[in-house]
Amino acid sequence: MWVLIVEDEIRLADLIRRGLEAEGFSVAVSHDGVEGEELAALNRYDALIVDWRLPKQDGRTLIKNLRAAGNQVPAIMLTALGDVEHRVAGLEAGADDYLPKPFSFEELVARLRAVTRRPPIAEFDHILTAGSVVVNCDRRSVEISGEPEFLRPKEFALLEMLLRRRGDVISRSVLAERIWGSALYVTDNVIDVTVSGLRSKLNAGFKGTTPDLEIVTVRGVGYSLREIEKTS
Ligand code: CA
Repeated sequence: MWVLIVEDEIRLADLIRRGLEAEGFSVAVSHDGVEGEELAALNRYDALIVDWRLPKQDGRTLIKNLRAAGNQVPAIMLTALGDVEHRVAGLEAGADDYLPKPFSFEELVARLRAVTRRPPIAEFDHILTAGSVVVNCDRRSVEISGEPEFLRPKEFALLEMLLRRRGDVISRSVLAERIWGSALYVTDNVIDVTVSGLRSKLNAGFKGTTPDLEIVTVRGVGYSLREIEKTS
């Protein structure tokens, strides 16, 4: 389960992130409403946790914009205690549930599990293909040249992100934030190790045939996925 937290109180966001990770969730964090919406539009999260009061754009507008664009990712809105209008407005904007602050972590997890049990109606591509690589985002499975390949969760998230934005150069800091949840806790080395792990699994999957997909290092910037046309 991959969850995006949009919360500008950095300590609270971090607390929720660590708690959810301990529960086995993968977590991404954004600290403002505009970036949060961009991330939610770009990535296929299983759920969003969105604070009402956010810089640049409030949580209600964020959810409303996503729904207007056909994005049905389950969303829990965090509201200030006693802010009844906010709860109503949040639900009207398309939030699936709300949780007044302060809340217990157990309750957040219970609500999260409840909203994600509803069948998703997401309008996203669930199957991503490039070259001889097929990624099934529902089953979290990867096939290379028709054979299943096991990826670790961060490798999977990296491959999914590179595929969704193929051709773009994605910086290390963006990868850190979107895959590890924050650029603050991730060293370049951790990213490089994950990239090289994914590269070697891709190469192993090609089993001596000419690879038709490669992860290109753009020195000093980041990484990009490139499809290689087969020449015979
Ligand atoms: Ca806030």
